[in-house]
Amino acid sequence: MKYHLVTLGCQMNISDSGRVKSYIEKLGYESTDNPHEADLLGVIACSVRQKAIDKVYNLIAVWNRQKAERRNFVTFLTGCILPDDREKFLKSFDMVFDMRDLTNFSKMLSEKIHEGTYYPKLSREDQAYQMDYFWKLEGRQPDKFEAFVPIQNGCDKFCTYCAVPYTRGREVSRSSQEILEEVKCLVDAGFKSITLLGQNVNSYGLDKKGKEITFAQLLELVGEYGDKSNKEFRVYFTSPHPRDMTVDVLEAIAKYKCLGKWIHIPIQSGDTEMLKRMNRKYDIERYRSVIHSIRTILPTATIFTDIIVGFTGETEEEFMNTRRAMKEFKYNMAFIAMYSPRPGAKSSEWVDDVPKDEKSRRYAVLSNDLKEVASQYTAQMVGKEYRLLVNGHDRLNGYLSGLTEGKIAVRFKSDNELLIGNFVNVRIIKSSDFSAEGELV
Ligand code: SF4
Repeated sequence: MKYHLVTLGCQMNISDSGRVKSYIEKLGYESTDNPHEADLLGVIACSVRQKAIDKVYNLIAVWNRQKAERRNFVTFLTGCILPDDREKFLKSFDMVFDMRDLTNFSKMLSEKIHEGTYYPKLSREDQAYQMDYFWKLEGRQPDKFEAFVPIQNGCDKFCTYCAVPYTRGREVSRSSQEILEEVKCLVDAGFKSITLLGQNVNSYGLDKKGKEITFAQLLELVGEYGDKSNKEFRVYFTSPHPRDMTVDVLEAIAKYKCLGKWIHIPIQSGDTEMLKRMNRKYDIERYRSVIHSIRTILPTATIFTDIIVGFTGETEEEFMNTRRAMKEFKYNMAFIAMYSPRPGAKSSEWVDDVPKDEKSRRYAVLSNDLKEVASQYTAQMVGKEYRLLVNGHDRLNGYLSGLTEGKIAVRFKSDNELLIGNFVNVRIIKSSDFSAEGELV
């Protein structure tokens, strides 16, 4: 028996798919890249993005045509599925279920039960029970030296533009011992870059107060293991929430070599009124103090962020405050998105009143601001030495590329493929806006 699995979505969906694969294989299925020979065809998707929903509909239309014409197979859909989409998808897929319902997958398969438990009805304790089972499954990694380790699932923040709390449920933290064990196994297996994943990593443990350690203590555990292991690897995390970013988290990063000096801290908007409408639960002063702590405690850290332009009601002045924030905080990278309403999110009930052309203009203006600040950092890299984790071939023939500890991409001349997945030292000889070129030292 064979299965074919398609994964659409973010790092979390990719990480989840590794566990789904190991579960299906335990049932006796073998993976195939060819959907035509599969007995089980599945999609792990994020239905909060219209693009992903369109892809899911295209896929299932093709599969159902084949089913009608040729042969029998079973189709399923899981991942971050909004309640409304779930009903619609049930008309096309044989099974639609929440990821945490994977425990019941073999039962659903044999009894042809078409729907798993509708998880928003579950208590946090029930969710925690199901996630514990899910996290105990073997986590397959999508890469040979870069790995993702889930530390938490769900979100309690309810930002108005986001549907995650409705698709993944409330925050549930994974056992710290289990996380540490998985990190150790990955390091033993030769992984060099490990990212701790969660929707709100720095509120780790708060759902199990008194029974589980805090995020800072978790980083300490990992850092201490790193020091003792005598192996070179880097540990990152994404995404933290500015409200929960505490000094002890930054101090832990500063203390241990294996904890990457790279912070991805979403700002979303530089305007306090806009942050209120987004229900981000911090104001610009709080965010400023977080950046100040990062710069003080981790002076070499690079800082990445996420920004939305053209959110409902965004005035020119509010947008200008985001431009000011970009210039003040001097990000190394910002993932800028033009606002589009997410079905299921609170803001989808509001008028999307910033015209598309204006969103595009703000996107272009802010992207230029980003280039300006990011290039100041890459320019000062010239002449200095950096340690890179080589991650593959560069687009330029005869060059390899890698990432600094702060995740700045650097290419260097070499055709030695054995360097891929290893650390090398380079001296930077020139820079561009977001990346640099170096030579091996
Ligand atoms: S954007 Fe807000 S609601 Fe969505 S996952 Fe992040 S913190 Fe949670």
